[in-house]
Amino acid sequence: MRITDIIRKKRDGLALSEEEICFFVNGYVNGEIPDYQIAALLMAIYFNDMNDDETVFLTKAMLNSGEKVDLSNIDGVKVDKHSTGGVGDKTTLICAPIAAACGVKIAKMSGRGLGHTGGTVDKLESIPGFNTSIDRERFFETVNKTGICVVGQSGNLCPADKKIYALRDVTETVDKICLIASSIMSKKLASGSDKILLDVKVGSGAFMKDLPSAEKLADTMVKIGNNAGKQTKALITNMDIPLGNAVGNNLEVIEAIETLNGNGPEDLTLVSVELAANMINLATGESIDICREKAKNAIKDKSALNKLADMVKYQGGDESFIYDTSLFKKATYSCDFVSRKDGYIVKTDAEKCGIACVYLGAGREKKEDKLDNTAGLIFHKKTGDKVSCGEVISTLYSCDDSLFDSAINELSNAFEIGDKKPKKQELILKIAE
Ligand code: URA
Repeated sequence: MRITDIIRKKRDGLALSEEEICFFVNGYVNGEIPDYQIAALLMAIYFNDMNDDETVFLTKAMLNSGEKVDLSNIDGVKVDKHSTGGVGDKTTLICAPIAAACGVKIAKMSGRGLGHTGGTVDKLESIPGFNTSIDRERFFETVNKTGICVVGQSGNLCPADKKIYALRDVTETVDKICLIASSIMSKKLASGSDKILLDVKVGSGAFMKDLPSAEKLADTMVKIGNNAGKQTKALITNMDIPLGNAVGNNLEVIEAIETLNGNGPEDLTLVSVELAANMINLATGESIDICREKAKNAIKDKSALNKLADMVKYQGGDESFIYDTSLFKKATYSCDFVSRKDGYIVKTDAEKCGIACVYLGAGREKKEDKLDNTAGLIFHKKTGDKVSCGEVISTLYSCDDSLFDSAINELSNAFEIGDKKPKKQELILKIAE
């Protein structure tokens, strides 16, 4: 088999066989096929797509390129949850402890922030002492004792995805559904849970900007998971407007804790409860109405908050922060972003808000950038709210006040003020299973 024949076949719009896909994936991981040939092949895939069979073959080849986590040492049904990424998306910090408080086992590997989107690992590490790189034995022990453990991706999981993703990142071939679906699902299948819940975000702050693309991504990933013998479900949720009122690591952890105390913003509470209900439904098979009630009760009786505190304690963090959020370090500086006219906010561009946060130090522009955990935004107003000229829309936080100008500039383009109150946007748009 020759890589040039495979590139030509895809360039000419033909489907690749399982053998051909394994050949290029393994050859690339082993270093036998150079970057420039895989880059050419990725661009051919970008323009000519992959059919469902090819996408499954690519997922399997990347899954088989490395280690697979065996969670059989953990009793009970293990449910994983994955978000395709958004701005202000701290739902894992809420729905995972809720599901764990309702008996679901959560043995989860999460990621760091990527571009304008935040990552659960970065958020958790803003709790002093919290360790996201504990060894496998302690990971199992923590889930068996507390029902929940969230760590960073470790070991040799899907090395092919790691290498191919890095190449996609620099060849403008990231935003292709077959490539995104196989990349996410190879990692989810390697992580070893029994069932998988996907949160496919759609809108200005998401990879998928429109509903048809989000539906296609959700359907593709659900098919891959179910074909691999893991029951998989996807919720398509709104990421046109940032979720909740806080963006930035400390600020988001505090908002997640407030939500577990029953005092969270309406949008964040609704999406988190719905995700938790679906995780419980996957684990128990009970009706979604019963699962939703269980999830709401776990907030009301504080069992979910206590579960988060348990997880923090077992992973080396200071659990007192969970019960007293005033302990979190505050930014040295703050600055208000105000409305320049009267009217209604008709658009809050989530991606631009995410970029403003990166400028403030809450995200990374380069992999090695150090985060300012105190940096970020608090929204006082979002899409649909009435504002008057001079009223504060958002407060910006950072430990470096020279960063405010670029963030304010980005925010000026993120908000649009109009005369008419816009229609309320749906938060849960579709379910794929
Ligand atoms: N996240 C992933 O893990 N892979 C992609 O391709 C896109 C988002």
